Amino acid sequence: MAQGHIIPFMELAKLIHHRRRCTVTIVSTPANVRALVSSFPSTTTFRLVPLPFDPTHHYLPSASESSDTLPTHLFVRLLHASLSLRPAFSALLSDILSSSAAPSRLCVIADVFTSWATEVAEALGAHHAVFTTCGGYGTTAFFSLWQHLPHARTDAEEFSVPGFPDSFRLRRSQLSSYIRAADGADEWSADLRPAIATSLRSKSMLCNSAEEVETTGIRLLRNYTGLCVYAVGPLLEWLDIHPPNSVLYISFGSQNTISAQQMMELAKGIEASGKAFIWVIRPPVEFDIGGEFQNEWLPEGFEERARQHARGVLVRDWAPQLEILSHASTGAFLSHCGWNSALESLSRGVPLIGWPLASEQFYNSVMLEEELGVCVEVARGKEVVVPGEEVERVVREVMGEERGVGMRRRAVEVRGLLEEAMREGDGEAKGSSLRAIDEFLEVALSGKYE
Ligand code: UDP
Repeated sequence: MAQGHIIPFMELAKLIHHRRRCTVTIVSTPANVRALVSSFPSTTTFRLVPLPFDPTHHYLPSASESSDTLPTHLFVRLLHASLSLRPAFSALLSDILSSSAAPSRLCVIADVFTSWATEVAEALGAHHAVFTTCGGYGTTAFFSLWQHLPHARTDAEEFSVPGFPDSFRLRRSQLSSYIRAADGADEWSADLRPAIATSLRSKSMLCNSAEEVETTGIRLLRNYTGLCVYAVGPLLEWLDIHPPNSVLYISFGSQNTISAQQMMELAKGIEASGKAFIWVIRPPVEFDIGGEFQNEWLPEGFEERARQHARGVLVRDWAPQLEILSHASTGAFLSHCGWNSALESLSRGVPLIGWPLASEQFYNSVMLEEELGVCVEVARGKEVVVPGEEVERVVREVMGEERGVGMRRRAVEVRGLLEEAMREGDGEAKGSSLRAIDEFLEVALSGKYE
């Protein structure tokens, strides 16, 4: 899985360990386990188990064990390849159950994209749940669109989405290109639809969101899936919270980038806005994402001018996002609206400028703007070309004194709700997400294997 899944999974593991002192075993492929050991010092608390996996056996580039390192069109192949882990995973669970130190209870929590793991748990009589690292609203839209392909049944530009009220309509242009092209016989449908169907057969679902912030989204997810949904988020590291201010932070997440032409316009717009910025930058879509970033993709002298006036920093590939969002000077986040980025931004009271690029980010952006009022969308998709002037206008608006102040106030309100959801306490004083995880653990650990 990509960082957007790994990070919330690690936070969930920490939370579960913290609440009930459970023994947590994290299972992934060898390269992912190695990366976890180096990037999460806290993993010493957990047992890490690599399952044998060779990407080249699945026509994937060697060392490609995460969608972070793959071009988008190969994600689906990785998803399919994950099915090959099933026998080794089953053997691992059997070993755990039959060992002399067998736990009295066992619960498997699987990502919704690797939901086959819940079937293995079911066969061995262990409790199981799926975990969606997206929000309630985005997960429902994603599941429903792939399951029903409502856009493939109409020529209309706008269509309703099963599971959502009739008044909720999506436009074809709001869909990611893979789903727009899907007809049920395509390779994405072939792997995603069974993964979703298996997720829906699990015993319960954990969701990285909070009831108070996503009241509608969590209700839709409950109604749509029919599962017992526990909103247990936000699963983030809790650092000090500082008031937001003047720097624009720009990042398109751990695996996306934009076109060269668009990168040029974005740079012009930021420079014209006069705002200070930190931009996490990767080669544009036309180039090898893992390659070296070249200044030719930016207006001439852009980086030098930014450096000279201490106005901007370009960070190659990866930045400590939470620390940046936590810093007092960060005033807005131009984001692809990946759910973790959205939660992290809101948990720090930072409003967003939305630029969704793939999957459920398109619906996250709609929700953040229309339901929560904490985002203004500047563009959508990788193919668009938004002129620099438009970027400049939106940056000024969100970081300015009129609309910007209201958005910031709203983002700070949402931050309060997220904190509330994770509040320690007894009975009614306990936050909704802590109540939910405790209820879940109560059920999951209540009986011997069923
Ligand atoms: N992230 C980071 N530094 C970067 C880019 C991303 O720390 O330069 C982290 C970010 O804080 C978030 C995750 O990677 O926790 C990205 O997850 P998200 O759901 O926002 O997007 P995805 O990468 O899955 O598209």
